[in-house]
Amino acid sequence: MDAVSKIFGSEVFNDTVMKERLPKDAYEQLQRTIKNGKHLELSLANTVAAAMKDWAIEKGATHYTHWFQPLTGITAEKHDSFIYPADGGKIIMEFSGKELIRGESDASSFPSGGLRATFEARGYTAWDATSYAFCKDNTLCIPTSFCSFGGHALDKKTPLLRSMQAINKQALRVVKLFGNEDVQHIETTVGAEQEYFLIDKAVYDKRKDLIYTGRTLFGAKPPKGQEMDDHYFGAIKPRVLAFMKELDMELWKMGILAKTEHNEVAPAQHELAPIFNTSNIAVDHNQLTMELMQKIAKKHNMVCLLHEKPFAGVNGSGKHNNWSISTDTGVNLLNPGDTPAANAQFLLFLCAVIKAVDEYQDLIRISVASAGNDHRLGANEAPPAIVSIFLGTELTEILEAIESGTPYGSKEKELLKIGVHTLPKFPKDTTDRNRTSPFAFTGNKFEFRMPGSSASISDANVMINTSVAEELKQFADNLENADDFDSALHDLIQKTVSEHKHIIFNGNGYDDAWIEEAERRGLLNLKSTPDCLPYLLHEKNIRLFETHKVFSREELQAQYEIKNENYSKLIKIEALTFLNMINKDILPSAASFIGSLSSLYNQKVSSGIPVDLSYESDTIRILSDLEGQIYRGKLDLETIMNDADRFSDSGSLACFYRDEICTRMAKIRKLVDQLEEKTDTSFWPYPTYGAILFSVK
Ligand code: ADP
Ligand code: MG
Repeated sequence: MDAVSKIFGSEVFNDTVMKERLPKDAYEQLQRTIKNGKHLELSLANTVAAAMKDWAIEKGATHYTHWFQPLTGITAEKHDSFIYPADGGKIIMEFSGKELIRGESDASSFPSGGLRATFEARGYTAWDATSYAFCKDNTLCIPTSFCSFGGHALDKKTPLLRSMQAINKQALRVVKLFGNEDVQHIETTVGAEQEYFLIDKAVYDKRKDLIYTGRTLFGAKPPKGQEMDDHYFGAIKPRVLAFMKELDMELWKMGILAKTEHNEVAPAQHELAPIFNTSNIAVDHNQLTMELMQKIAKKHNMVCLLHEKPFAGVNGSGKHNNWSISTDTGVNLLNPGDTPAANAQFLLFLCAVIKAVDEYQDLIRISVASAGNDHRLGANEAPPAIVSIFLGTELTEILEAIESGTPYGSKEKELLKIGVHTLPKFPKDTTDRNRTSPFAFTGNKFEFRMPGSSASISDANVMINTSVAEELKQFADNLENADDFDSALHDLIQKTVSEHKHIIFNGNGYDDAWIEEAERRGLLNLKSTPDCLPYLLHEKNIRLFETHKVFSREELQAQYEIKNENYSKLIKIEALTFLNMINKDILPSAASFIGSLSSLYNQKVSSGIPVDLSYESDTIRILSDLEGQIYRGKLDLETIMNDADRFSDSGSLACFYRDEICTRMAKIRKLVDQLEEKTDTSFWPYPTYGAILFSVK
């Protein structure tokens, strides 16, 4: 066996290991339980736990943890060792079925948005048996969901699993209408391409802003940025290559299908793409990938920045969420295929996505909303904050022909009547790779490009899965009762295209003209996080989530509170860091440099020799002016920060931080960047953009 095959999945308690280590009937029983999503019987859990423990101990594990994803967006673990006291002052290593399937956790230190009553601080974690357990840092990690004792979701996994169930249920109804009786289960799939920056640890350690906020709060533009396009797909530097090699190895050990590693557009920016997987596993794997990236970078004396916009004026980092939906018989329902029947089914699923993205634009937008991503959406290379769909000319023309009842086809033009006529073969991948679209059809899947690089992709998939489930439900309701299936199907597709085609946009999404055009079309343009969060609680959205049992009204209310709170907290930390840097480093450095210029000036004057003093005098004047403006600006910012106490509701507080704090910080930052450009390098307290972006040689 080659080296990679040998290590792939070596740290995972996967199907092969289960087959090897579990008694045959236990293995089969577990498979059935997983497949049917049923609860695990305690006796079976005991058998599985014992096998898992023996396996993990052989791997060097001493502890186990329920590995979960609280609403902070990162992962959490609480380690317990396997030890139990035994006779004679000895210990034995134990792990019970009860410990495997359910854990208790103190939920009070995790955000709950009011779901966890203060008298009930406990929460519990429950094994997601569809995601394999794995070993990490001598610990057996059990992927779990995290709920309050009242059963409310306190994490990112629970709603995702619920949304997968919802779409499975509705999609099954639809495929049965097309005669696919053998399909038992339908699953959404996700491939999450992850962008990140790698910088040298030495420069990172000198930047408080990177340390506390993950992004630079100051920094003048370097003489060279990304304008030469020489980084993209360029040769990978040896240090980065060593990092990528180790990262791939570690990911493979965890059974993560890391496939492609390459440079990105900006200097120091890179990307990793895995091979797609079932949604919940893809989400777990993306969280592990981010964790390993940061850990392995440190080993190589670098720091991996996952922030959406670490550097102003330089491309930000996103996460492309490639999304599709497949049957357990191996059919990708977004694959156009060759046969007319399959084509009609494809068109219906395509229409479900189009209608979903149009009717739930607000939710799609909310799923990527965060303080960090606000800097990225609409800026530079990133998708604009407007949600639209790219289909490509070919597919758009087909839909238009169906809608208008006009002939379509390059050779023999034919009126398209679904189910009756043979639809033309779709020349696959004629998509001209429109990179500016936030939601692009790319041949057999959609690529959702709005998620930020640091976010959990769970939110995005919950929104996509649930909204598409709703449209499939409406379609199934309609078609199940139709007298003439073919003509009902045709009418349904025609109607959907006609009512929702305004969400389709194949042009340049980065063009300013699109913003006006989108407004004319009545599409939403929710620019900031506080702008879009109120939509979460619109009745149509509450109804959607309640219908499909993904979120209750209380859970949505909690999500709203937490997202607002996270936004405000983040901006507050940024503002405090910003003020600290100005007070402790930036103003004192400027004053020192002005002082040093002033003594030079005085020396020259007192020498009595007639010399040119214009550099000294001009610079002293310009810098003193900037210094004064920055000083007054920061006094004003300090004063206004105290106003935060005036707001009791989380939505108004978030708006306050956006309108009063972010805007002031942006103004002051401009002045500081001008100051930096005119200050002697040896006086400037921080590594410059140039020094950071080109720090990895
Ligand atoms: P790109 O040009 O964007 O790199 P790729 O074809 O390499 O496009 O695919 C990008 C991502 O899409 C990969 O992570 C890949 O595994 C994923 N992908 C491919 N097919 C599917 C699918 N059916 N469902 C979800 N993701 C998919
Ligand atoms: Mg891509």
